[in-house]
Amino acid sequence: MSRPDLHDLSVAQLAARLASRDVSSVEATQHFLSRIRQNDSLGAFLATDEEKSLTQAKAADARLAAGDRTPLLGVPLAHKDVFVTRDFPTTAGSKMLANYRSPFDATVVSQLAAQGMVTLGKLNCDEFAMGSGNDNSAYRPAKNPWDTERVPGGSSGGSAAAVAARLVPAATGTDTGGSIRQPASLTGITGIKPTYGRCSRYGMVAFASSLDQAGPMARSAEDCALLLSGMAGPDLDRDSTSLDMPAVDYATFLIADGAGGTRAEPLKGLRIGLPTQFFGAGCSADVLTAVRSALAELEKLGATLVDVSLPLTELSIPVYYVIAPAEASSNLSRFDGVRYGHRAAKYTDLNDMYKKSRSEGFGDEVTRRIMIGTYVLSHGYYDAYYLKAQKIRRLIAEDFQKAFSQCDIIAGPVSPTVAWKIGEKSDDPVASYLADIYTLSSSLAGLPGMSVPAGFGEGGMPVGLQLIGNYFREGQLLSTAHQFQMATDWHQRKPQGM
Ligand code: GLN
Repeated sequence: MSRPDLHDLSVAQLAARLASRDVSSVEATQHFLSRIRQNDSLGAFLATDEEKSLTQAKAADARLAAGDRTPLLGVPLAHKDVFVTRDFPTTAGSKMLANYRSPFDATVVSQLAAQGMVTLGKLNCDEFAMGSGNDNSAYRPAKNPWDTERVPGGSSGGSAAAVAARLVPAATGTDTGGSIRQPASLTGITGIKPTYGRCSRYGMVAFASSLDQAGPMARSAEDCALLLSGMAGPDLDRDSTSLDMPAVDYATFLIADGAGGTRAEPLKGLRIGLPTQFFGAGCSADVLTAVRSALAELEKLGATLVDVSLPLTELSIPVYYVIAPAEASSNLSRFDGVRYGHRAAKYTDLNDMYKKSRSEGFGDEVTRRIMIGTYVLSHGYYDAYYLKAQKIRRLIAEDFQKAFSQCDIIAGPVSPTVAWKIGEKSDDPVASYLADIYTLSSSLAGLPGMSVPAGFGEGGMPVGLQLIGNYFREGQLLSTAHQFQMATDWHQRKPQGM
């Protein structure tokens, strides 16, 4: 009997094979490491260390041999390069941290390691997670495995490319304004950004602290549920915005009403709200067609579609691009060549050292945001920009609550277009900001959201369906996506040659 390739197994299947000792963690780790080597030109990885990975795999095998059956034990994954790691370098995609080695692991990393997951390396991303195409990485662009001339999305572009190309069974990502959902959508994988505060931010290189949130990226909702169960949970001593809520086993949500998901209409009673603003002229026709047929499928599964309104959707772009740079300008002030980061080799005095170190260390987009952020926080402009943006942020959150009085879940596109060509938006930052229109508002409100593969659009490129839940309803999102995935096979399609 021929064995399916290890890289085609889901996290759940691989975990089962490891638990039955049919495959060892070392064997699985070696298999993925060789795929990573063979597909280096995708630009998905910034660092690997085969010896370190194999040491972790051997330790997992020892636990398995001793009868330990922790759910994710021995399964390999890779981390977005904004999570600090002791065993691997951490650059946040920036020259500023070119030689940085963290003395500790981020909470998300240590939690998954405690479950026995094996780290395969660090994944490419936009510099300090600022971007939508991974082309702001200071090292190299990541490519979309469906068409290597196109972006994989950003900022978690390396995570998305690696999962879609089956170089890893799963990856971590971070989402400040869409960076898990948008790259998941553009590469045909599944990703979830939980409620703000659900996963610890400790050890995540900070971009905009009131928005940053970690989450899993994998091929299915089932796999995301397994991963999120291992990542989420309180970390009150180390992250003051961590939610004081117990860890949840999200896998328990995947079985609808104890019926094993086999009922004819497993989503009966679920009201899905469609914001008019998400279905307007701004969205390209191919994306709308795929999203609408996914919605029709959800209806077949018993859900009811209702119209809702999120009137301030358009304002989420200026609001986000005031608040996120404001917080970034403050967070990035620590990279001065003294406390942290690259220090220029030649300088005349202290001020010159700061200036040269920061100019050399930061790329264009990061510099642009530091300047915008400093400007909107400065005396005389604070009220007009920053304070105003905070007020609208509150109104955006209130609009979601009004919408949730009419529905349980909100659905729509993730991105107004499929993946664009690498370089296409590089000289036009505003064009890139505009592409974030459908992900920013829920981020500003701190709500959980996910992207679920929903078909293909222009050029045969993947299209994702976005599902947004109310606070703490990750389980409901995952179970809805899981029902959709049991009825469709979009999440199982893979790029040619992978
Ligand atoms: N594209 C958005 C930005 O550039 C979101 C990035 C993110 O979520 N990290 O800021």
